[in-house]
This record gives sequence, structure tokens and C-alpha cells, in this order.
Amino acid sequence: MLLKGKVALITGAGRGIGRVISLALAGEGARVIVNDYIEENAKSVAEEIKAAGGEAESVQCNVANFEETTNMIKAILKNNPVDILINNAGITRDNLLVRMKESDWDDVLSVNLKSMFNCTQSVAKSMMKQRYGRIINIASIVGLIGNEGQANYAASKSGIIGFSKTVARELATRGVTVNVIAPGFIQTAMTDKLSDEAREKLFASIPMKRLGTPEDIAPLVVFLCSDKAGYITGQVINVDGGIAM
Ligand code: NAP
Repeated sequence: MLLKGKVALITGAGRGIGRVISLALAGEGARVIVNDYIEENAKSVAEEIKAAGGEAESVQCNVANFEETTNMIKAILKNNPVDILINNAGITRDNLLVRMKESDWDDVLSVNLKSMFNCTQSVAKSMMKQRYGRIINIASIVGLIGNEGQANYAASKSGIIGFSKTVARELATRGVTVNVIAPGFIQTAMTDKLSDEAREKLFASIPMKRLGTPEDIAPLVVFLCSDKAGYITGQVINVDGGIAM
């Protein structure tokens, strides 16, 4: 087991990519703290992990809210160290720039980018003190190449990359690595919303001619969290079927 004895906090893990990452980390022996905005979803993933013989607990919190998030992490740190932080929570509010509402911009930037600051700042001190930590931030290839209708989402995901590289530099001497995974188009509730037309256009852009699955992402997360990846920091790794090569 690659992660025996480690404690991992995964945000937005009540479904989709975060759920599968949680199951994979627990499968490697980590004690998983499943966060989600919706309490029942976080609980049900924690139950799923426990039913499979793993260790898990759930915690409800809106990670876009600074005060709620710092309180959540303070409460977690009272009982456990946090060795691994996976900043995964994210939303879309798509529209063309000329039609985009200010609230669509603000909501996406708050959930996708401000949450990174909220969670990472809250765990950074304790990771520095323990001279060990793994932080993985889930961005998107849209942050690298853009996508029509996603100016807000692309800005948030590009922002994650700059943020992560900076934090990687600040924490590098303390045994804390910070890396970014940039998924392509992955089959989850987020991409279920796509129209048939958008889906066809998308397929044409994917050299592998299929959408990815959360199971395509999770093994890389496990590796980056393990001791085997101790000399990898500040990297952006695409998992996208070749779209952004
Ligand atoms: P998803 O199925 O929509 O899951 C996202 C999860 O995040 C949901 O459980 C959601 O809870 C939770 N969440 C949203 N806002 C939150 C908040 N403020 N606080 C706590 N939890 C919150 O999406 P996904 O496809 O798994 O995406 C996971 C991450 O991968 C996101 O960062 C996304 O941008 C990124 N990504 C996805 C794709 C893709 O093609 N699917 C591609 C590239 C990157 P609710 O149930 O309340 O909404």
C-alpha cells in the first residue's frame, strides 16, 4: 500500500472525479476525509469507502467560503495531521463572454480558484511544520488552451496553474510538493450537460476519440501523493487523450 498511515482531504468529493480519487486513495491505505457541499453525498462516499474496508469520514463545507473552510480545516487538524490535500471542487457556469452574467463569473472564480487559496493556506502551516505534504490541484486543459463559452472557467483554471507553481516554490524546501492535474473531457455530471452537437465537436478534437473517465485520473493522483513522487513539484500534467499535446 502506497499511502498507509496518511490522512487525505479531498474537496468536492461527493461525486464525479473527487469520489473516484477518494476511493483510490483509501484503497492505498490513506484515511480519507471526504468533503462536499452536499452533506449526504459526502457521507455516502465515506460509507462506500468504509464498506470496502477503508477508513473515511465526511465533512460538509462550502470551500468557496473562507471562514467556513478555515473552520473546517481547524477542526480536522485538531484530531489529525493533513498529509494530502486534493483541491478538486469545481463548477461551470458557461456562456459566451458577451452574455455572461457577473454572478456567473464570480461564482466560478470563487468555487474553482478562491477555494484553492482557502484550503491550501489553511493546511500549509501544518504541512510545513511536519515537513511533509502533498497538494494536488485539479485544473483543466481549458486553462491551457481556452474553450468557447468558458471565459470564467478558463480564467479560474489558468489561475490555478499560476497559484500552484507559486506555492510549489514557497513550500519546496519543506517537503511539500504541489502539482496540477489538467484533465481533458471526463465523463461526469459536469460533461453530461453537453449537447449532442457539442459532444460531436469535442470527440473530433480528442486524438483518442473517447471521453476520459475519473478512473483515468485517479492513478496519477495516487502516484503524485506517494513517496515515489517526492522530487516532482510545480508540474502540470494533462490527462486528456492527447487534446493539448
Ligand atoms: P462534478 O461531478 O460536478 O463534481 C464536482 C463536485 O464538487 C460536486 O460533488 C459538487 O457538489 C462539489 N462542489 C461544488 N461546489 C462546491 C463547493 N463550493 N464546496 C464543496 N464542494 C463543492 O464535477 P467533476 O467532473 O467531478 O469535476 C471535478 C473537478 O475536475 C472540477 O474541478 C472540474 O473543474 C475538474 N475537471 C472536470 C472535467 C470534466 O470533464 N468532468 C474536466 C477538467 C477538469 P454539488 O453536488 O453540490 O454540485
